[in-house]
Amino acid sequence: MTETRHYSDCAVHNEPAASAGPCDCGGYVPQIKSLNLQLETREDGGLFVWSDDVPGLILSGPDKNAVLEAIGPALAVLLPYYT
Ligand SMILES: [Zn+2]
Repeated sequence: MTETRHYSDCAVHNEPAASAGPCDCGGYVPQIKSLNLQLETREDGGLFVWSDDVPGLILSGPDKNAVLEAIGPALAVLLPYYT
């Protein structure tokens, strides 16, 4: 099931700085799609992860496992802006 979402600057998100107002962004329905993740091993053995499909997703660190574990939470934050 899909539901309408609102862009971050929509009036429905004005709280708590101001009163929330009626939608002024038109809303959008998120679409599920595929995305490509790029993984590259760093010179120090760490990992660099990014995705051309999610421009804000850039993860890098010396601990490969820590970087891999951060992908899920990072996508959870970023995907609503791109889907
Ligand atoms: Zn809206």
